[in-house]
Amino acid sequence: MAQQEDVFKKLVSHSKEYGFVFQSSEIYDGLSAVYDYGQNGVELKNNIKKYWWESMTLLNENVVGIDSAIFMHPTIWKASGHVDAFNDPLIDNKDSKKRYRADVLIEDQIAKFDDKINKEVEKAAKKYGDAFDEAQYRSTNPRVLEHAAKREELHTRFAKALNDNNLDDLRQIILDYDIVCPISGTKNWTEVRQFNLMFSTEMGSTSDGSMKVYLRPETAQGIFVNYLNVQKTGRMKIPFGIAQIGKAFRNEIVARQFIFRMREFEQMEMQFFVRPGEELEWFKKWKETRLKWHKALGLGDQKYRFHDHEKLAHYANAATDIEFEMPFGFKEVEGIHSRTNFDLSSHEKYSGKKLQYFDPETKESYVPYVIETSIGVDRMFLSVLSAAYTEEVLENGETRVVLKLPAALAPIKVAVMPLTKKDGFPEKARQIIDDLKFDLKCQYDEKDSIGKRYRRQDAIGTPFCVTVDHQTLEDNTVTLRYRDTMEQERVGIADLKNIICDQVSMKTLLKKVAE
Ligand code: ATP
Repeated sequence: MAQQEDVFKKLVSHSKEYGFVFQSSEIYDGLSAVYDYGQNGVELKNNIKKYWWESMTLLNENVVGIDSAIFMHPTIWKASGHVDAFNDPLIDNKDSKKRYRADVLIEDQIAKFDDKINKEVEKAAKKYGDAFDEAQYRSTNPRVLEHAAKREELHTRFAKALNDNNLDDLRQIILDYDIVCPISGTKNWTEVRQFNLMFSTEMGSTSDGSMKVYLRPETAQGIFVNYLNVQKTGRMKIPFGIAQIGKAFRNEIVARQFIFRMREFEQMEMQFFVRPGEELEWFKKWKETRLKWHKALGLGDQKYRFHDHEKLAHYANAATDIEFEMPFGFKEVEGIHSRTNFDLSSHEKYSGKKLQYFDPETKESYVPYVIETSIGVDRMFLSVLSAAYTEEVLENGETRVVLKLPAALAPIKVAVMPLTKKDGFPEKARQIIDDLKFDLKCQYDEKDSIGKRYRRQDAIGTPFCVTVDHQTLEDNTVTLRYRDTMEQERVGIADLKNIICDQVSMKTLLKKVAE
């Protein structure tokens, strides 16, 4: 674990050093849980968004996009339930004055039981070698069973407290399980209180008062309130989906995990409108499709798992998270929810407008049911970056840090380098870039030794480096170097575009999703 935390720290400083992520307002000592993306970060982020957008809108004929405003009529947030119920239970430690989410403290405690069980299993696996039967060990070993029983007991009590919205019991669980503040080490806790996560501001400045508006805490509502506009103007037939990428804002209580939990972040959401009664079938289908999208990146299939929700939101009849193994454990990257017809029905009620769909096949009108897929761009960015970050010891004993980013997501696709700054090499290198730049994001680099330049490109995940040397001037060939294997080969300049595009194009990735 300590090692993993170490990796996380390195990742944060690497992100800054190489222009991926900066603390917002850094020269003013920063603004908590708000971050800016640098010159490489913005490219990676845009590529992630492109991958999502194209997989939604190109691969699915019946999914179209929109871009709705961040400000919306305040009644929308009443109808969606956010004004009354978008709360987190918070608790303060009186000694450290630090604030925590009570539910997260308890979830961490549950994870401790899981760790204990896993350690027992690992120990036994080492001891018994090939003869080890993990399933049998898990179901019979007394120590494992004891931890599992304690976990179950805590889990059941926690789920009940959440479902009953029982804040006193959440606090009591924290006391009963001796959960202490990691900073002060004490159990000197305040009461648990609900805290609304929406930011609000004022719109207009007339004398009869301005209107309180919210910064949207999710992009989904912009889709719901436009669903009929899109359905009618796009002549969409159910089932169909609407996709949107945009900023969302939440006044998170605890925001200490870099870009995992931010107060301003970006979401990629798709709401899929279906016939009532068919929602669970579509829920299953979108679960599979979304996992496939993640796995196509090749970050490692074992890094993903589904986590079905213990407590279903009042509007949902099924919900799961796709979790990714971050340096600090498996964490939610994407949520997939079967939201029933809750949102649309509620908007009908609050707006007084009918939001029904006439189904030409069944000749019935109904309020569609909705499956939502909702993924955070920034969390996705973090998962890609953490899986890509690799430290390798080379044959000569040196260490290289390389970002093994999926090539289609890499900020720079190819770096073109003249061997030296003279002999016409720079001009030739520029010519190559002038030819490639319409298809590929290129970078010209002539400073320092070739070895150093390779390292710099490795550190930002550039899949290809092209070196121009004496031979280039004679026969129009260059050295093409591959990031992951560090292999080099001699190729004709005329072949560069094809070789590189084939490996870095979004199309290659999208084909895997569509397989
Ligand atoms: P959590 O339980 O971690 O607070 P959530 O269940 O509230 O997340 P959703 O409301 O389902 O999250 O939002 C969908 C997605 O938006 C999440 O899977 C996550 O990727 C992203 N997201 C939510 N809150 C944040 C945040 N504060 N910072 C960055 N991304 C976020």
